[in-house]
Amino acid sequence: MDERSNPTQQLEDLTLALLHSRAEVTRLRERERLFSTLLGSVNAVLWAFDWAAQRMIYVSPAYERVFGRPAALLLADYGEWRNSIYPDDLDYAAESLAKVLESGAVEVREYRIIRADGQLRWLSDKCFISRSSESGQTQIIFGIAEDITDKKQLEGELQRLATTDVLTQSSNRRHFFDCALREFEHARKFGSPLAFLLLDIDDFKQINDRYGHQMGDQVLQRLASCGALAVRSGDLFGRIGGEEFAALFVGCEPALAVQVAERLERDVQRLRFSHPLASFAITVSQGLTCLRGDDSSLDMLFARADAAMYQAKRQGKNQIVLD
Ligand code: GH3
Ligand code: MG
Ligand code: MG
Repeated sequence: MDERSNPTQQLEDLTLALLHSRAEVTRLRERERLFSTLLGSVNAVLWAFDWAAQRMIYVSPAYERVFGRPAALLLADYGEWRNSIYPDDLDYAAESLAKVLESGAVEVREYRIIRADGQLRWLSDKCFISRSSESGQTQIIFGIAEDITDKKQLEGELQRLATTDVLTQSSNRRHFFDCALREFEHARKFGSPLAFLLLDIDDFKQINDRYGHQMGDQVLQRLASCGALAVRSGDLFGRIGGEEFAALFVGCEPALAVQVAERLERDVQRLRFSHPLASFAITVSQGLTCLRGDDSSLDMLFARADAAMYQAKRQGKNQIVLD
């Protein structure tokens, strides 16, 4: 007799199968709990996006923390993701996502989002595509989005420290000349005017000697603010030495450059400094030069401005010499 036709045996088989599938369900539930705990503890947002349906099909719990928005809204409507992207970065985010589809490779995208509470955050979003092996059609894009705001702030702060003079907050020498070189090359290429100004505080050593180094520092700070205010946006201004500053007037004809230098001279003369011993004013000597057709390097302009500035010193200080 066939064993399977035995009803007792059949019942036993069925019971075993049932127990087995119960154990399987329990095992799967435990696995799911494990994955949920893992995903919940990961700070990055893991997501899966169905390209054809334009629908977000999964987003990990970190989404709500990073984006400050309910995940249910995003799963119901992908527009919610786009709404959270900072408007200036929207085109980039859309184009880079489409690029993943073309290349199939991992793309690292950096863009800003605005949380529901208005906070701006930087995201680094690595994504790649997976084509479903069954249909060969369904295209799912997987991504891991990390909040890199702190890293960006640190980068910005490092960049600021590397380019700024600590005492006066103006550009430091290296940054000034890096930027000036770019402007010089641009002006040479397009034949646009450019003016280089050097400025040195007169008898600054006496200020330090009479009123102390701290007062000297204050003079440098006030002079730097004065210079930064005198130049137009797009011009450059920086501290290139102890009490020596430089400015580059971009697209500026000689007559206008002289006017800016004269205004700066008057603004500096008007500054007043108070010290228990006395209240005092300062003056500056300025050397100004403009780009010429045969200038083949920025150094040539710098050298002319320097010579003009020293001539101003020799001629009695507190004046502008134009070369
Ligand atoms: P001149 O009119 O010919 O330019 O004379 P000067 O006294 O201004 O020039 P000099 O080169 O003789 O002296 C510049 C002084 O600037 C000497 C230096 O101690 C001082 N100095 C340089 N850097 C700083 C700074 O960061 N803070 C202060 N307080 N003084 C500085
Ligand atoms: Mg000086
Ligand atoms: Mg000097």
